Amino acid sequence: MQSVPLSIVGASAAGLAAAWYLARQGVPALVYEAQAPYQPAERTLIVTPAFLRLLDFDPREAILYRVRGYELISRGASACIPLREPDIVLDRARFLHLLVHRVKEAGGEVFFGHRLMDIRTDRVPYILRFATGENRERWVVAWRFLGADGLSGQVSRIAQADGLEEVALCQARVLLPGDLPPDTVRVWFDRATTRFFYWLIPESPHTGAAGLVAKTPGEARRLLEEFLRAQGLEPLAWQEGQAPLFPLSFGRAPMGDGRILLAGDAAGQVKGTTVGGLVAGMRGGLAAARSLAAGTFYDAESRLLRRELAFHALVRRVLDAFTDEDYDALLGLLNRRACSVLGRYHRDDLARGLGPILLSQPRWLLLGARALVRGLRGPGNRSPETSRREGAV
Ligand SMILES: Cc1cc2nc3c(=O)[nH]c(=O)nc-3n(C[C@H](O)[C@H](O)[C@H](O)COP(=O)(O)OP(=O)(O)OC[C@H]3O[C@@H](n4cnc5c(N)ncnc54)[C@H](O)[C@@H]3O)c2cc1C
Repeated sequence: MQSVPLSIVGASAAGLAAAWYLARQGVPALVYEAQAPYQPAERTLIVTPAFLRLLDFDPREAILYRVRGYELISRGASACIPLREPDIVLDRARFLHLLVHRVKEAGGEVFFGHRLMDIRTDRVPYILRFATGENRERWVVAWRFLGADGLSGQVSRIAQADGLEEVALCQARVLLPGDLPPDTVRVWFDRATTRFFYWLIPESPHTGAAGLVAKTPGEARRLLEEFLRAQGLEPLAWQEGQAPLFPLSFGRAPMGDGRILLAGDAAGQVKGTTVGGLVAGMRGGLAAARSLAAGTFYDAESRLLRRELAFHALVRRVLDAFTDEDYDALLGLLNRRACSVLGRYHRDDLARGLGPILLSQPRWLLLGARALVRGLRGPGNRSPETSRREGAV
């Protein structure tokens, strides 16, 4: 086990999860974070119960709500899926403050106001240069370190982790409509405007977050404004940002060079199906921490995560080729057995659940295979509008 201090760049979910693991193993963990004061962007997140299993403490201060079912709506069909275990609606900023506290409690250190400027990689050990204020710098020597500084962070740029597809997310806090069943997330599929979906996530009995994923921040904001108007929802506050999507071939996922490890958004550890990155990023951070602590290969430590994320990329490829009619068929085929199986396997366990899910409704396999063939012919080049027209032919 390591006894020299290990450096981590970025104090968000992935970096803090790694530091927390290392500190609990007795490995000195030093986290360098650009922000000072530390004010993570306000964001309402929804995560599966897998989130709780990553923690050995109760994050109740950060939990806003628990969701017990999903209502799915396409142009011509709808369905409800009750969850066996509730999903968690989380206040991201509160959760990150909680993690900082846990890292410090376990003996790790977090240095705020340390912005990584560059890394001297021409010889080992590497030298990390941080700006720590006006005309002030700090140099850190590292044999191996973790870059968890997000999508546009410095480490992933230096480790040449570009080439990942990026998408824009936009959410608005809204008052919940009166017809939303309690403890339920509502999801709308509309291929005319998005290859993903619109969502409405309750964060209290009266308020929630409505959002969508789009190609660019401008498009996401415009589409969401139109959607909110159509639904009669008034935006109270906006939450916006960008995220990477994990590639279909997990060999193409950036991981670093063996000395520089990447985790979280910096490594594209985001599910392609739903663009959820909190649990995946924390799993990535923990895998990197195990590798740093024990001197094992990150490749091996993160194999299950990368397999899981590659499954999501495959399902995304299928869904990208879906038309509105396919979504109608998908929901129309949701029988009681399929609902019960879907409610049992959550989306951070897709690799394990896909078999039982397809067995519960074998006709989904045909639907998916047809779409996959269409998708492999080049879905990325088609706009939702084109796909819709083609589906209608
Ligand atoms: C609007 C929106 C809604 C979302 N909803 C969900 C959801 O419901 N469920 C879900 O699972 N995921 C969701 N996500 C995705 C999720 O928030 C991210 O995948 C996750 O937060 C990524 O965490 P991370 O630790 O990889 O990086 P980030 O959260 O991006 O953090 C990177 C950290 O590095 C620091 N940093 C950057 N550059 C430097 C530097 N040069 N030097 C030092 N420090 C630096 C930053 O200040 C920051 O603290 C959403 C994203 C957005 C934008």
